[in-house]
Amino acid sequence: MTVAAISTPAAVGGIAMIRISGESALKIADEIFVSPSGKKPSQMAGYTCAYGEIAPGGNRLDDGILTVFRSPKSYTGEDVVEISCHGGIYVSRKILREILRLGAEPAGPGEFTKRAFLNGKLSLTQAEAVMDIVSAEGDAALSSANLMREGAIYKKAREISKKLVEVLSSLAAWTDYPDEDLPEAEPEKITGKLAECREALKKLISGYDEGLIFKEGVPCAIVGRPNVGKSTLMNALLGYERSIVTDEAGTTRDVIEERLRLGDLILKLSDTAGLREAKSEAERQGVRLSEKSAERASLVLAVFDGSRELSPEDMEVLKICENKRRIIVINKVDLPQKIDKEYFKDEIILEVEAKTGRGVEKIKAAAYEALGLEQGGAPEVYANERQKLCCERALKFVSEAEEAALRGETLDAVTVLADEAAGALLELSGERVTEAVVEDVFSRFCVGK
Ligand code: GDP
Repeated sequence: MTVAAISTPAAVGGIAMIRISGESALKIADEIFVSPSGKKPSQMAGYTCAYGEIAPGGNRLDDGILTVFRSPKSYTGEDVVEISCHGGIYVSRKILREILRLGAEPAGPGEFTKRAFLNGKLSLTQAEAVMDIVSAEGDAALSSANLMREGAIYKKAREISKKLVEVLSSLAAWTDYPDEDLPEAEPEKITGKLAECREALKKLISGYDEGLIFKEGVPCAIVGRPNVGKSTLMNALLGYERSIVTDEAGTTRDVIEERLRLGDLILKLSDTAGLREAKSEAERQGVRLSEKSAERASLVLAVFDGSRELSPEDMEVLKICENKRRIIVINKVDLPQKIDKEYFKDEIILEVEAKTGRGVEKIKAAAYEALGLEQGGAPEVYANERQKLCCERALKFVSEAEEAALRGETLDAVTVLADEAAGALLELSGERVTEAVVEDVFSRFCVGK
């Protein structure tokens, strides 16, 4: 089946691109494209392009560039034609309609990449990486996606499965020749290899959480009693006036969310109502929101007024975020200081004058430290959720196999468990997946990709 879709966004722009893939791609292109030399797309070599008119049935719609890719040397592995025309929504849709009229089917979400996977041009993790490249919002997310595109996750999964296969073959040798003296089948060797698999899987799983930080951002709450300068701090961090600041206590009633980019790290900031005994109903609502947003946050900026001694309300603020990764922000350092800094001696402290923005630039180092991340560390590849779930399943079976081996259970039991673990890794790499998993992966793509 030949499919077609507009691969550029549904918006007016300089250029729009319509992609056709499948056995009739060139035949369809012959019907709509007229080059000045009269050469037809089906006569063009792969990796060549031509200028011409897009004129189905002699009816000129636009002019543009047509590029030919011939199977198997194309993105999908099939014959592919890409037509770049002027970037109008109407004109590009009109051209697509003509292509569909000539027999192509509309491509589903991610259909081109799915075909690339089904035709063996990409592994499943590489196909997923394509999506990650499209959605990357920072260098860490982009370099992770590129590493995955180069096969980094696939290779890691393969290394682990290779070890599991070694374990399985030792076990098989042992079962087949129980009386022989087989050094590779020594129980310590088997448990040792399983332990290596366990650690490698754990590392891949923990990379998922770190990856989420870079891919999706860290929910971060700014909390503190009224008037310590939370809104002023938020504005200083974002570099512009976002929430209204007044001298009256308790004016920030609704939670406001903003994204703050600190190098690769994105903080999803929420400014909340002051934490205190709320008098009015609206304020009470605000305090609840404040506690809620602190609960949801992965990082808390706890703000204190440096010109005042710590109050019981401040203690309440500290209590709300006592089990959270947090940064103690001491504000108003321009005023004579009364706060007891010793109280925070084991914490990450950020001293600022929010009003002028002095000191707020240190938030980056503080946030990286609070989240246990390394600034400018070597690029890492982060597993996505599907891959993490496969790793977790593999880990469960590897751990059970290891325990069974240590307990001295029958080798059959160990074999079954190690085999299950290997199966989970084959699912990760896409070498043994169900159609439903493949459908699910590509349903997240956009049409035309
Ligand atoms: P919130 O209730 O915690 O959101 O506090 P606001 O941001 O509304 O600030 C309360 C008051 O503190 C306002 O009058 C601000 O101008 C003042 N303020 C904020 N930051 C500073 C600062 O760094 N130095 C001084 N002196 N005053 C500040």
